[in-house]
Amino acid sequence: MSEGTINGLQFIGGKRRRGSSQDPLTVIDPSNGRVLAEDDNASPAEVDEAVDSAKAAFTGWSRATPAERSAALWALAGELETISDELIATESAEAGKPVRLATEFDIPGSIDNVKYYAGLARNLEGKAAGNYSGEHISSIRREPLGVIGSIAPWNYPLQVAMWKVLPAIAAGNTIVLKPSELTPGTTLMLAEAAQRAGIPDGVINVVTGTGEHVGDALVGHKDVAMVSFTGSTAVGRRVAARAASDVKRVHLELGGKAPFVVFDDADLAAAARGAMAASLVNTGQDCTAATRAYVQRPLYDAFVEAVAEHMREAKLGPTSDPATDLGPLISMRHRERVQGFVERARRDGAKIVVGGAIGDGELSAGSYYQPTLITNADQKSEIVQSEVFGPVLTVLPFDDDEEGLELANDTPYGLSASAWTSDIHRAQTAADLIQAGCVWINDHVSIISEMPHGGYKLSGFGKDMSTYSFEEYTQIKHVMSSTVRGSHRAWNDVIVAPKGRQ
Ligand code: NAD
Repeated sequence: MSEGTINGLQFIGGKRRRGSSQDPLTVIDPSNGRVLAEDDNASPAEVDEAVDSAKAAFTGWSRATPAERSAALWALAGELETISDELIATESAEAGKPVRLATEFDIPGSIDNVKYYAGLARNLEGKAAGNYSGEHISSIRREPLGVIGSIAPWNYPLQVAMWKVLPAIAAGNTIVLKPSELTPGTTLMLAEAAQRAGIPDGVINVVTGTGEHVGDALVGHKDVAMVSFTGSTAVGRRVAARAASDVKRVHLELGGKAPFVVFDDADLAAAARGAMAASLVNTGQDCTAATRAYVQRPLYDAFVEAVAEHMREAKLGPTSDPATDLGPLISMRHRERVQGFVERARRDGAKIVVGGAIGDGELSAGSYYQPTLITNADQKSEIVQSEVFGPVLTVLPFDDDEEGLELANDTPYGLSASAWTSDIHRAQTAADLIQAGCVWINDHVSIISEMPHGGYKLSGFGKDMSTYSFEEYTQIKHVMSSTVRGSHRAWNDVIVAPKGRQ
């Protein structure tokens, strides 16, 4: 019996407990189908309770000094370091992540985020202080909004939870977070660690359940001041529409379809290995993953051959084995979706150079899918235009630089992109012309707490990490104090002229 089964998958007002909707929820290890935890979805009454608890905690938390909030976050980082082995094991089991990735990327990256916001909590300042009218001193304050309703996906459960929770609470807000119903474990561990770190009950609440029931109730709750959502573009549209009726602020981090542009002067070995890593990261279930490589014709054949070679070497296996490179996809249902994309591409004339099949033998109990390299697809086809969210890379050739950059911009998404070249002018032109929230030069996928992550176009708006994210969880107040001594304000006379002066 797992911890989730014993304690439930809800954390409300400082208490871990079971959901009461009588609508069952089962968390499964996608590498072998084993049940990890069972509970019921949160009921609407529990969403209300969680929001009430966050609302009650807001007054105290928003009035805590920046130094107090910072100290609590430093303590949280310490608590998370203490349980990092359990975090790694849970993240790996629930999300189907190879333990090497969870150990070297997810968990240390998440803890680094906590330390970054612990520092930033003491640096929230207004921009202007001056006498602009001649008769007033103006100042700007950044204030928290209140209760933030956040919704996260399953691909990086702890990291995305951090991107939602940390800027919100560092700025003095309180939060109700709904993790993906597929991967709630490490988010609950985060909430419990926060409690041990001395963050008051009610500041962080977790409600677990499906988007349709629990997510929708949270987005529509009248006491939620802002909705921060990370997930697919389709659901993001629904969330934005729902939030609009109450004029709630929204922050949307949505899907991606990142291009990977290789110019003919690129370091071929670096680009080929980079394309393999960037397309297979997290089994391709990464919003910034390289999905469309465009390669200038002189390098095209050699690039395809080199990427194919690397992909054939990638080892699928049990997520707990440090030698495993690729874990399963998140679920059998998602694997069917990925497989459907590849089969339709094959039917439409694309060539499957590597993969294009599910994992067999010892892997058949899990939702494994082989690294897949596709050529000869049409730029306008579904496999090139839609987010597949699996270990699938298409490669297409281009002739001149302009064409390569046009193809890179030719999808509705704009989250991230990379350009590979040894020419600084080409690199700068690519950085100028590619419409994406992040452009890497001679690399792809790296992120860092200090720098923003967020999209253009249908990839959404709003930034995670960095000072930009911190500011998004605040509202701006202008305070204007009169410097005029005595009882006469000249502008009052403009409205109603004093007697005898018309
Ligand atoms: P999803 O959109 O299906 O679900 C995301 C979250 O929304 C889940 O918690 C889900 O339960 C909830 N949800 C579903 N329907 C809802 C509704 N009607 N109202 C409120 N909440 C609802 O996405 P997913 O499959 O969990 O994650 C994969 C997607 O997330 C991909 O599209 C990926 O690109 C995107 N993603 C984006 C970023 C980014 O930073 N831009 C990061 C990670 C993942």
